[in-house]
Amino acid sequence: MITNNLKNIGVFKDSCDGTIKSVFNVNNKIIEMSLLMNKDKMDVVCAPTHHFCNLKCKMCHLSDNRINKNMCPISKEYFIEALIKSLCLQEINSNNIKDSRRTKKKLLLISFMGVGEPLLNQKLILDVFKESNNIKKLLGYTDISFAIATMVPNISLLKDFIKMINANNIPLKIHFSMHTPIDENRFKLIPSSNASIEDILNELISYSLLSKNNAKIMNNYLKFHRNNLPIEIHYTLINGINDGKLELNKISNLLSKYVIPIKFIKFNPTKEMSISDNEEHWITTLKEKLFDFQIKTYSPPGKEVGSSCGEFTKHYYHKEIETEEEYNEFKNWEKLHKIDY
Ligand code: SF4
Repeated sequence: MITNNLKNIGVFKDSCDGTIKSVFNVNNKIIEMSLLMNKDKMDVVCAPTHHFCNLKCKMCHLSDNRINKNMCPISKEYFIEALIKSLCLQEINSNNIKDSRRTKKKLLLISFMGVGEPLLNQKLILDVFKESNNIKKLLGYTDISFAIATMVPNISLLKDFIKMINANNIPLKIHFSMHTPIDENRFKLIPSSNASIEDILNELISYSLLSKNNAKIMNNYLKFHRNNLPIEIHYTLINGINDGKLELNKISNLLSKYVIPIKFIKFNPTKEMSISDNEEHWITTLKEKLFDFQIKTYSPPGKEVGSSCGEFTKHYYHKEIETEEEYNEFKNWEKLHKIDY
């Protein structure tokens, strides 16, 4: 089952939380996966669906107007090889791959939240799901579950995806990257999405109902998550962009109407955008109006090794436009975090 097409070009470790990021090259295309160590009972792998992404979300660290590269979907073979190699030590014991695993945890959550947009490579998610039993056997997991973070390029892609997930009984949580509740502003912040927020929320609610009524999905889902809601909104508060009164009112009304949990993810500042100071005010206001379980804040792990949301090892994608200063910065970072195993 395991192929040997990928060249491992680096394994990096976060000294604060132990996140391990593995970077692979195949035919000059990159695959970057991070194994998070923030859950006691499960391995969480933050995985890409594409080798590169040019969808140009304004708050993303990867997409850059100066780079003229195609958004190439990752194939099942390359993905599975990268997954197995990311979960194992460099020297895989080919007679017994289980012994090479970095952890002995029994649950594996494959979270498509890395480079790319999962709804634009749905085939990969289905293909990997179909390999779940083989992956379990090979690596010694008892259960595997899935998650995606999507900005929803258009509503029909989301509908097709939900149909595919239910037709195949795939246990999967959908995290909707909303980032502003105002459609017109969202179309500017996330220019590759033309879906209206209320359309998306309605679809998510139907998805949640379908999943809750599917015993096969729920049996698996409840081993991985604290509640039976397979949907969540992601929101990153950015100074002056999406953190105003108008947005707060709008989001409060939407969340009262749709009762979907929201997670506020700490923003990784870009050159043009900075972290909002309003998080505390937003959380207090929303907690007064909504159910407690609906509101969470989150500082993504793996910050030192660029595994946080929207942050990648830019050097590997941006070589064409990298300045000398950025290159030197990368070399220093590499010295600090690269490990041999
Ligand atoms: S945030 Fe995700 S979808 Fe948007 S450009 Fe970056 S990698 Fe692509």
